[in-house]
Amino acid sequence: MNYNKKSIEDIEVAGKRVLCRCDFNVPTKDGKITSDKRIVAAMPTIEYLVNKGAKVILCSHMGKPKGEWKPELSLQVVAKRISELLGKEVVMATDVAGEDSKAKAAALRDGDVMLLENTRYIKGETKNDPELSKALADLADIFVNDAFGTAHRAHSSTAGVADYLPAVSGYLVQKEVSIMGKALANPERPFVAILGGAKVSDKLNVINNLLEKVDTLIIGGGMAYTFLAAQGYSVGKSLVDNEKLDYCKEMLAKAEAKGVKLLLPADTAIAPAFPDPIDGEISVDYVDCTAIPADQMGLDIGPKACAAFAAAAKAAKTVVWNGPMGVFENPTLAKGTIAVAQALADSDAVTIVGGGDSAAACEQLGFANAITHISTGGGASLEFLEGLELPGIACLQDK
Ligand code: AMP
Repeated sequence: MNYNKKSIEDIEVAGKRVLCRCDFNVPTKDGKITSDKRIVAAMPTIEYLVNKGAKVILCSHMGKPKGEWKPELSLQVVAKRISELLGKEVVMATDVAGEDSKAKAAALRDGDVMLLENTRYIKGETKNDPELSKALADLADIFVNDAFGTAHRAHSSTAGVADYLPAVSGYLVQKEVSIMGKALANPERPFVAILGGAKVSDKLNVINNLLEKVDTLIIGGGMAYTFLAAQGYSVGKSLVDNEKLDYCKEMLAKAEAKGVKLLLPADTAIAPAFPDPIDGEISVDYVDCTAIPADQMGLDIGPKACAAFAAAAKAAKTVVWNGPMGVFENPTLAKGTIAVAQALADSDAVTIVGGGDSAAACEQLGFANAITHISTGGGASLEFLEGLELPGIACLQDK
């Protein structure tokens, strides 16, 4: 896939109607936004368009209304917040590319901003219905995608609309594509990937694709025990995906054949059972992964693994991390995940954290500023690492 995509700076937007897909899928409670992070993150693109004198038509989904007009998922609260941040009125449409949107879009003056209703109020959105894509396109002259979190979805407002309009990236998508695209296509080496999370089966293609690109692949989290079992070790009651043992053997062989170092945890935190509740008190022992007792399960990486993984991150020039090293929801079992986050924060390498739990961990720990790039999309960044073509990026014009 070509990552060299045009951005808003590569196209004339002055006086043009610009439909800008953002990620305004913000959490709300009792009709109030509880975190406006995603709105704040979209502001540079919105401000650029306003300052250039575009007629800005914003759109986004919120939650999963599945084609129903659920009032609690209305974007009205978002319009209000953008308006506060921008210091000017944001006109709210009462529909998604319907009569009200058309009338309000037609009335926009240069520098005005409007917001359409929740795109997922329309059933056709998630089906990439050409009728909706065309209706959205009819509102505007240019399409800007600034929603990386939904870039792996081929929906009407994320990709379909680009069939009818010149399409470019906003600043958020541009940053994701340029940093992650460069890391995968042309990384500074050594290139180290650190993968964690629960199941091997969720990351089969990620492992396979990264083995083509990295110098070192580190596997922690629940996934590691299936790899350890594939190497012939007894892993007690640890999470093992028996159907994927052959796959893990194949990946171990592939790593060896390609000269990729595949690092598994040398030691692990063990306990007789999964914590219940997940964040409840738990007492653990640390043992080598070659000596996990039959009645115990591995729930986090141990101190030797933390040190080895941190050393690999320190020696790297590019590090990509996705997935926690243990059951990080529990403070006793979060030590491995914290150690990896710390190692990335301390590293001089280009450090990229691929969304989801690992991104949340870096932010909660206050390491976000020390990481080169924390992806705004969990699913999208995983598909990026899998080497898949993301419809919301593929549809943008090449430079
Ligand atoms: P994922 O959604 O695949 O990134 O996985 C995240 C989940 O993996 C978290 O909820 C962790 O609690 C879980 N996890 C991490 N390590 C382990 C482990 N050793 N055993 C069981 N679950 C784990």
